[in-house]
Amino acid sequence: MGSDAAAGPDISARNATLCTACGLCCDGSLFEAVRVDAVEIAPLEQLGLAIERGDEPRFNQPCTKLVDRCCSIYAARPRICRNFACALLKRLHKGDVTLDQARGVVATAQTLRARVAEATPPARGIAASLAAAPDQDWVAIVDPAMRLAAARRHLDQMVLRDYLATHFRLPGDKPGAGGGEP
Ligand code: SF4
Ligand code: SF4
Repeated sequence: MGSDAAAGPDISARNATLCTACGLCCDGSLFEAVRVDAVEIAPLEQLGLAIERGDEPRFNQPCTKLVDRCCSIYAARPRICRNFACALLKRLHKGDVTLDQARGVVATAQTLRARVAEATPPARGIAASLAAAPDQDWVAIVDPAMRLAAARRHLDQMVLRDYLATHFRLPGDKPGAGGGEP
């Protein structure tokens, strides 16, 4: 999503460099859904987003408008996407991490994410997979090879969840809560 609101050219460039290599806040890794304002429903539907109506209108992630880790409706993306910046991006803005360090964090997260996605393809997204009861049934598996494989899947999930929480989540973010309010 990558906020660029009120950002100067330098910050915008760093956003673009980091976020276009990432996309974790759009691909279902961090959030299961994105809330939208009522006035945004019709324009977003015209752009092809499937909005779930209700008290809290939203669309599900992985977002169908994410193409090659970039937002294909960037100029018309909803308010919550426009305003969102993950913890890592905020640290970059503050100068707590360099761009190279932040890119390293994103690269590691992508590697961990790929491992989880490969082993247990999530029906909707990684966040949904991680929010569901973790695969702890491995303890009771009798076959040693199957038990080991299940234990590794469980460990990979735990490592990814911890890594995302440590580097990307903001206080108050909850997996599956739908869209990170800044
Ligand atoms: S609309 Fe764009 S910024 Fe928002 S979740 Fe989808 S791809 Fe990301
Ligand atoms: S998770 Fe953070 S670094 Fe990655 S695209 Fe979103 S705002 Fe940018």
